[in-house]
Amino acid sequence: MSFGFFNLETPVNEPTLEYKPGSPERKKVLDAYKKMYNDHVQVPLYLGEGEVFTSERKDISPPHDHKHVIGTYSIAEEKHVHKAIANALEARKKWVTMSWEHRISIFLKAADLISGPYRSIINAGTMLGQSKNIFQAEIDAACEFVDFLKFNAAFASDIYNQQPAPGHGVFNRIEHRPLEGFTYSVTPFNFTAIAGNLCASMAMMGNVVVWKPSDHQMYTAKIIMDIFKEAGLPDGVVTMVSGDPEMISDIVLSHPDFAGLHFTGSTFVFQKLWKKIGNQIEQYRTYPRIVGETGGKDFILAHPSANIEVVATAITRGAFEYQGQKCSAASRIYLPESIAKPIIDKLVENVESFTIGSPEDMSHFITAVIHESSFDKLASYIDAAHEDSEVKVLAGGTYDKSEGYFVSPTVLLTTNPKYTTMETELFGPVVTIYVYPDEEWVATMALVDSTSIYGLTGAVIAQDRMAIEEASRYLVNAAGNFYINDKPSGAVVGQQPFGGARASGTNDKAGSMQNLLRWVSPRLIKETMVPPKNYRYPHMG
Ligand code: NAD
Repeated sequence: MSFGFFNLETPVNEPTLEYKPGSPERKKVLDAYKKMYNDHVQVPLYLGEGEVFTSERKDISPPHDHKHVIGTYSIAEEKHVHKAIANALEARKKWVTMSWEHRISIFLKAADLISGPYRSIINAGTMLGQSKNIFQAEIDAACEFVDFLKFNAAFASDIYNQQPAPGHGVFNRIEHRPLEGFTYSVTPFNFTAIAGNLCASMAMMGNVVVWKPSDHQMYTAKIIMDIFKEAGLPDGVVTMVSGDPEMISDIVLSHPDFAGLHFTGSTFVFQKLWKKIGNQIEQYRTYPRIVGETGGKDFILAHPSANIEVVATAITRGAFEYQGQKCSAASRIYLPESIAKPIIDKLVENVESFTIGSPEDMSHFITAVIHESSFDKLASYIDAAHEDSEVKVLAGGTYDKSEGYFVSPTVLLTTNPKYTTMETELFGPVVTIYVYPDEEWVATMALVDSTSIYGLTGAVIAQDRMAIEEASRYLVNAAGNFYINDKPSGAVVGQQPFGGARASGTNDKAGSMQNLLRWVSPRLIKETMVPPKNYRYPHMG
């Protein structure tokens, strides 16, 4: 019940703390890290009826120290998934009746909890469980998560304010109803903020959510659920089930009340889920909304007029931050022959200056990759590159998993612009360079456009404005997020809404009003004040 129209504060991006030596925030996060490292957390299922610990558990270990166990998480059986859905549908009865200002206040409170008392906890959890260095943890788990919650709250209020024109003697209004049924959120390992946002954005619009987090983000999944609870989210509005993704998804997607999928992860998994939904389309009560943000093979295209240091820095940061485990990481690079050598020399010098190790040592730029199968996959591509006559390994090219899953940042140079690492998403610290003749600028743009199935991010670097204009036009469908004179990663909520097309996803732009509109089903209400009592129109005499 609402007795007013309410204005929210205009959101501003959460300031990033620096964690300089001697700073209080550095001490706090390192203290939290040490405590978590020595504790043993137990992550339950959240089925909407308190915490449920199952008999089958899996260990949680830091990727940079994989022999050390920091906790376990519960593995769901089929009955738990059915229970989560039933309890979510039960919770829906009250949740849909809560007035929007109260619903949104829960998420604004969650944002302030993350910004304040939970900041060091969620950052330390992201460093420990997902091997992010402190800067990567801060911009993800603290700042981006807070931004998602605050900006989405403002977008939600704008959506509720969008109303049709009034008519004479008629009151027209639109209700932005939540979807009828329950929604399903399937999230990746690589961003704590994405995991939280995929659930929160749907719940904020009045939906109930069954959440299946990644097996490799379970440590911070629990922290997110703790924050939602402390913020006042009623039980059952977001339920969380972990375990076999096929089994969980099969049960969820077979339910007649399944109303929407909010997915972020690999293209292959998204396509599989979409097919399952399509194959069962007759049995749903409504047409499910499907939103998926998936893989990328993101490019940097340098023009002969580009500044050498700008290109080298964009590749260094764009390819290797968080070990290249960002969907937006630069992984295929096109350099003009005339300036390729100084750019490559600078890049190799940068890469060779990186140190690698545990995020607890804050001097490291690079830590471990997420798990053994990612490590093994990257190692096999590096081995093949060493053997291939079309490729030179310019930096890195080594790996070691004895203590953590460490892959040294690797720079490959290929003479084949369609070499496998120019086309395939590796999701690790490997970047491949192709050098093109300067006079083939236009042909190279065609190459960039046609080399990969993806269309997520890309950057053009040039001083020549004609070249920038040409690339912007030519590559119009090659990237959903297109950068000029910058790296192709590091989107900020509210400033660069994020998403790609082609095989990279439905491009519904996380952290924007467009995304929230996917989670509502508008109802138009026309109320006539003095209705006619005779069917005859005036022209009928
Ligand atoms: P993933 O596809 O392996 O896993 C994502 C989620 O899907 C996890 O929760 C996983 O358990 C689940 N899953 C896996 N197999 C499944 C199946 N058969 N059925 C149902 N669910 C299944 O991805 P990941 O390794 O966690 O994350 C990396 C991928 O995510 C990369 O491809 C990256 O590009 C993409 N990503 C995209 C964006 C974006 O905004 N476009 C953002 C982050 C990550």
